[in-house]
Amino acid sequence: MSSEDLQTPEQVAPGDCPVCCGQSRGSRGTVPGFVEGMIYEVFECETCHSQSVPSDTVIPVGLYDAVYRHAGSLPGYYRYHRYADTTRNIKNPLYYLSRSEDVYWAVTSILSERRGHGQGTVVIDVGSGLGYLTAALRAEGYEAWGTDVSSEAVQQATRRFGPWFFLAESSASWGDLEVEPDVIVALETIEHVSNPAKFLASLAAKVNPGGEVLLSTPNKDRWSPECVWETDLPPVHLHWLSEDGLRTLGRRIGCTVELVDFTEFNQLMGKPIVEVTLPTTTPQKAVLDSNLSPTGLAPPPQIDGFRDRLVRTPAFGRVVALARRPRQHTDSELTPSQLTARRRSNSAVARYTSARDDPAN
Ligand SMILES: [Zn+2]
Repeated sequence: MSSEDLQTPEQVAPGDCPVCCGQSRGSRGTVPGFVEGMIYEVFECETCHSQSVPSDTVIPVGLYDAVYRHAGSLPGYYRYHRYADTTRNIKNPLYYLSRSEDVYWAVTSILSERRGHGQGTVVIDVGSGLGYLTAALRAEGYEAWGTDVSSEAVQQATRRFGPWFFLAESSASWGDLEVEPDVIVALETIEHVSNPAKFLASLAAKVNPGGEVLLSTPNKDRWSPECVWETDLPPVHLHWLSEDGLRTLGRRIGCTVELVDFTEFNQLMGKPIVEVTLPTTTPQKAVLDSNLSPTGLAPPPQIDGFRDRLVRTPAFGRVVALARRPRQHTDSELTPSQLTARRRSNSAVARYTSARDDPAN
C-alpha cells in the first residue's frame, strides 16, 4: 500500500481493517466474550495481521466501572491494584514501576531520555485507571494528569492520590484541562477503542510541537501466527494489534514511528527468553457483578481454555473470570528467533512523533 492509498482515520469501511485500512480480512472463527453469553467473530487483516472484532461491537454500559470496582480480584487487573497500593507507600514509585513491568520501564526510559529530570514537562496519562502512573510521574517532578472513561477509576485514583484525574470520553472533552502536553502516554488503551487511527490522530493533534505520543498494547507478534485472540476477550479488547499495525497507524497520520526494543529490560530483569506458541491454561477465578450479562443466550459449552473470561455460574448466580498464563521456557543459546523474542515483551510500546511539527526537522 502506498502513502497515497492511505485513508484518513475517519474513513474506515465496515469490512476493512480498522488498524491499517487493509481491504482483505478473513474470519478466524469465534471467541466467547468477556461477559457471559456473548460470542464474537474475530477477523484477521491479510495486510497487517492485526485481529479485530466487528466494528459495530457494543461495549455494555458500566463494564469498565465494574472492572475497576473489582480490579483487586480480577485476573489481568489485580496487579494494577497492587501497583496503586505500593505507589502510595514508597519513596520512589516511578523506579518501582519501571522495575515491575515492561511498559513502565519503557515510559520511564523515554521520558528521562527526553526530559532529564522531568521538571516542567507536562504529561497526560490517557486511560489512567487506578492512577498510580500519574502519581508516580508527579512524584518525579512531571506535571502529570490522568484521564479515564470510567468514573469509578477516576474516583478511586482521586481518593488515593489527589485531584489530578478527570473523566473524559475522548480528548475532545479535555476542554477543562488547560494544559498543553509535551508527552501523551496511553498504555494498554488503544486496543479498547473502536477506531484506533482516529484515537491516535486525536492524541497526536494535542501534543506540543516536538512532543510525542507513547502507546502500549498487547503485542500479537509475541505469539505464533496461528493464535487467535490471546488477549483480553471482547468487548474489553476490540483489537489485537501487530507490530506492522502499530507502524501503519502512525504512517496513516503522518507520524514517524519507533517501536521500543525490550532487550535491555529483559536482560536487566533476568527475564527468560519467552517464545510463546500455543498456550497452556491456568484457570483463575474472580467474582464480578452478576448483572453484566446483557443477553439471554446460553453460555458457550466450552468454558476452559480462555483467559479473562466471565461466566455466570448458575449454582451461585455469580459471574466469574478465568485467566491463563503463557508457558515460559529458557534456553542458553540464542537462535535468531530467540533474539527476536528477547527484543519483544508482552506489550509493544510505540513512540509516535509528528515529523511536521518537530522543530529539529
Ligand atoms: Zn490491517
